[in-house]
Amino acid sequence: MDFESVVLPGVDPARPIVIAGPCSAETEDQVMETARGVAAQGVKIFRAGIWKPRTKPGGFEGIGTAGLAWFKRVKRETGMYVTTEVATEKHVFEALKAGVDILWIGARTTVNPFAVQEIADALSGVDIPVLIKNPVNPDLELWIGAIERLYGAGLRRIGVIHRGFSSYDKKTYRNPPMWHIPIELRRRLPNLTVFCDPSHISGRRDLIAPLCQQAMDLQFDGLMIETHCCPATAWSDASQQLTPDDLDHLRSLLVIRNADRPSQDLSELRCKIDQIDENLLELLARRMQVSLEIGQYKKKNNMPVLQTMRYSELIEKRAAFGKTLDLDPDFIREVLKNIHEESVRKQMNVMSGEKESLPQ
Ligand code: PEP
Ligand code: MN
Repeated sequence: MDFESVVLPGVDPARPIVIAGPCSAETEDQVMETARGVAAQGVKIFRAGIWKPRTKPGGFEGIGTAGLAWFKRVKRETGMYVTTEVATEKHVFEALKAGVDILWIGARTTVNPFAVQEIADALSGVDIPVLIKNPVNPDLELWIGAIERLYGAGLRRIGVIHRGFSSYDKKTYRNPPMWHIPIELRRRLPNLTVFCDPSHISGRRDLIAPLCQQAMDLQFDGLMIETHCCPATAWSDASQQLTPDDLDHLRSLLVIRNADRPSQDLSELRCKIDQIDENLLELLARRMQVSLEIGQYKKKNNMPVLQTMRYSELIEKRAAFGKTLDLDPDFIREVLKNIHEESVRKQMNVMSGEKESLPQ
């Protein structure tokens, strides 16, 4: 597939290309005040959700078509381009009729081939930039499938947005990033324009700046950042929006390293290592939990914590298995010894009724 740039005339293509604006268009005043605020910081592309996909019914589901008239005013008074999310054929027709300059497809839509095909069909023969967010689940082929559907309808100005992936237990991030997925996407489709949406990845204002820096270090082309004239009163995603002044401050702190190819490769490799380390630690935590359960069992059945036979057998089995994976047996013995020591320490605490408890 051969893509064309999504950068519109008058927009500086230098990294990062910034798209800013509120999660949702709420009122004409809120849209205009935010638009003036970001335009004053040099932003050239204004975002706002007109139709909002909400997890549960009953919340604010977007202002709808009425908000499109406010977009016209934004364009007229600030000169910015405007972009919004489309999820149905009706959204596409209304957005095109209102002169929306760039469309984006949300994560909950990318996941559904029927919906993406409906949008692609509605756009057949139209030349407009479209940005495709990653699907909510980490499925690269599904993401590429959505790109292919739009490409098949004749669209060439296609970009993508990494907004993180949904996870069952939300810890640090609302939608944890999996950088290796957009990196692999760019490796397979090199001329795609790649954005990062740190607002939906983090769900928290304070994590937006470090995520932007990470995206820049990984050579992303642009950033889509939720920005609101008064984030605390926002009708959706209040905790992840910046003020226009915060946005300006963030941009002034960004370090843009226009890497030559070797250091880009290094960033990509480091990112893979980070991901693998996280997986390793998650596995280790699971192992410790099982070990605690064993501790409880031993306590209940009056068994000693340390069973030397089982320990030696385990170490030797793992060393042999490690060898089949090209891992040095002595190294494996050493790693396992440390893990085992920590397990024994935890089980001893269970025996003495101290501290350690099973996760609820
Ligand atoms: C949004 O950008 O406001 C939005 C709903 O994003 P996502 O599709 O990433 O959840
Ligand atoms: Mn949002």
